[in-house]
Amino acid sequence: VRNVVQEFTARGRGGVKGGVVHALSDVSFDLQAGETLGIVGETGSGKSTLARSILQAPRPKSGEVYFQGQDLMRRRSRDLTEARRQLQMVFQDPFASLNPRWRVSEIVAEPLVGYRVGNRDARVRELLDLVGLNPDTFASRRPHELSGGQCQRVAIARAIALDPALVVCDEAVSSLDVLIQAQVLNLFEQLRRELGLSYLFISHDLALVKQVSDRVAVMHLGQLCEIGPAEGLYRAPMHPYTVALLASIPKLDPGARGKKPVTLEGEPPSPISPPSGCRFHTRCPFAQDRCATEAPVLRELAPGHSVACHFPMPGE
Ligand code: SF4
Ligand code: MG
Repeated sequence: VRNVVQEFTARGRGGVKGGVVHALSDVSFDLQAGETLGIVGETGSGKSTLARSILQAPRPKSGEVYFQGQDLMRRRSRDLTEARRQLQMVFQDPFASLNPRWRVSEIVAEPLVGYRVGNRDARVRELLDLVGLNPDTFASRRPHELSGGQCQRVAIARAIALDPALVVCDEAVSSLDVLIQAQVLNLFEQLRRELGLSYLFISHDLALVKQVSDRVAVMHLGQLCEIGPAEGLYRAPMHPYTVALLASIPKLDPGARGKKPVTLEGEPPSPISPPSGCRFHTRCPFAQDRCATEAPVLRELAPGHSVACHFPMPGE
């Protein structure tokens, strides 16, 4: 993903000012085959927009999105069919994402029908087995006869039906109980090993993301402010915003390292008129004059660990 920009026009209403929403500004990163990249950030930071922009739905305003060597931005919509087969998504609300009138077998078969894959009954049974649902018990049920965790397993079976290379999980376990969350995360991990999947794992829950990710990217107001190996980033975050996000989870509090605690106060600024310079400067306790005028760029400060800050924390 290179220099991706996404903008929307928001209508003003009820005293809220309308204008151009700078949803993604110059976002760049790589995702390797077989890797899980976690994306964290507050609500409205652009995580879901990033996911949808990668899938070209809608297309970004500018930038490049290379997938298996092809720039998806330069392909016509009808030439995206193969890429769409390889790029699948699992959403937050398992009930809402399944057609309530369909049987589980029909839901899982839907992409197979769309892509004219043969031998569908056998494939559906195989997929249900893969996600831990006994086909004899579950194939003929409808969504209302399933628990939240079972619904999400059906959504996952549908997502992997066409043998994708990348599955984008947008808050995919956020609505589930902690115990069920753990089971579904185990399923993701098992599928990664068995099918060689890559994941883009989006969540506002930093503890969850840490469990599943090889690397983690931190988003703030439509920009990446830090990206690096999960271990190092959680142990020694370098961007003040990451420090503040981690400090909001008591057991992961990096403040224990004797640093000045950073807390996030108030609402994030509006993406319609983001602050000048560093977009975090209105909330950053380390901000200096330069931060209000000059936007920091991502710089690699440790192996594979990049930070966009003029005055980063020392790291490890
Ligand atoms: Fe804070 Fe300045 Fe770094 Fe932005 S660039 S995070 S305002 S220290
Ligand atoms: Mg979202």
